[in-house]
Amino acid sequence: MTAEDEVRFRSVLDDVAAYKPGKPPERTDGRPSFKLSSNENPYPPLPGVLAAATEAAGNMNRYPDMGALPLLEALSERFDVPVTDLAIGTGSVAVLYHLLQAACGEGDEVVYAWRSFEAYPIAVQLTGATSVQVPLTEDARHDLKAMEAAITDRTKVVMVCTPNNPTGPVVHRDELVAFLDAVPRNVLVVLDEAYREFVRDTETPDCTEMYRDRPNVVVLRTFSKAYGLAGFRIGYAIGHAPVIAAIRKCALPFGVSEIAQAAAVASLRAEKELLDRVEALVVERTRVVGELRAAGWDVPETHANFVWMPLGDETLAFAEAVQAEGVSVRPFPGEGARVTIGEREANDLFLTIACAWRQ
Ligand SMILES: *Cc1c(COP(=O)(O)O)cnc(C)c1O
Repeated sequence: MTAEDEVRFRSVLDDVAAYKPGKPPERTDGRPSFKLSSNENPYPPLPGVLAAATEAAGNMNRYPDMGALPLLEALSERFDVPVTDLAIGTGSVAVLYHLLQAACGEGDEVVYAWRSFEAYPIAVQLTGATSVQVPLTEDARHDLKAMEAAITDRTKVVMVCTPNNPTGPVVHRDELVAFLDAVPRNVLVVLDEAYREFVRDTETPDCTEMYRDRPNVVVLRTFSKAYGLAGFRIGYAIGHAPVIAAIRKCALPFGVSEIAQAAAVASLRAEKELLDRVEALVVERTRVVGELRAAGWDVPETHANFVWMPLGDETLAFAEAVQAEGVSVRPFPGEGARVTIGEREANDLFLTIACAWRQ
């Protein structure tokens, strides 16, 4: 077969790295193992949420409600926004893909902090646009001044991840307002708040308030983390109607299943119980960070359900050492490892290994 006979794909695909999912833990000796590599919620589904999903599964011969009206109405009430300001997708990552597809192509630039969420470079590259990555500050925070300076005539989208995955810090209200005021009105600003429910810092804005008088701001939220629906794939955007209409044009028809929609509606009804679980994880986070710091680890402030271990060249050796004890974490070779806050037993096991590492 000659090169001429090969099927052809867009050349932008040549440089796209495949998304690396967090590894499952491997154990063969029968002792318990824990997955702290994908920022999942360790709690099993609430009975009411499971019942709603099970009931919806009875309709699997039908296409889902494409308008997702019960869910949009529930979200509309929850955030006091019109239904026309809401779009859903199979996870907020899917919503981001649709948004980028709607906003940019070859020759355009997308500005975001780095290191940040791994899906960003892939999603940008697939559109043909160019990523402009602005290094985080020494303390692993967004450098909004430098991001502002990185905006050019070619910039179509700027993405802000708060709390930042994988490092943990948030962007504060005053710096975000100054940033939004400085960004040209025709540049779309995506505020990715996948971990908003875990934030306990009072200077952190609720970005669903920030979008109201700013037509170029769109907020991404998800049911995957705080609400524990990662396996069902459901997330949403809150933005002004023209932005939402553009997202909807790019979305796959019938993408979000009836089961996921039903589980999301039931989760909003059970929000208090779910947020109690989030609070328990926040308590665990405080404990884990405190113990790591007491053992000499210089971990950045975190407002998400994970903690960043700045390991540098030791990253892979550390990941292998914890894996050997049945705990999987997410290594970024040469930089550090992201470790999800899980159930207490998992955190204890992780802490034992991490604290011994510093001895
Ligand atoms: C987990 C995550 C999301 C959302 O993921 P979905 O499961 O696709 O909703 C979005 N942004 C960041 C930064 C995340 O870590």
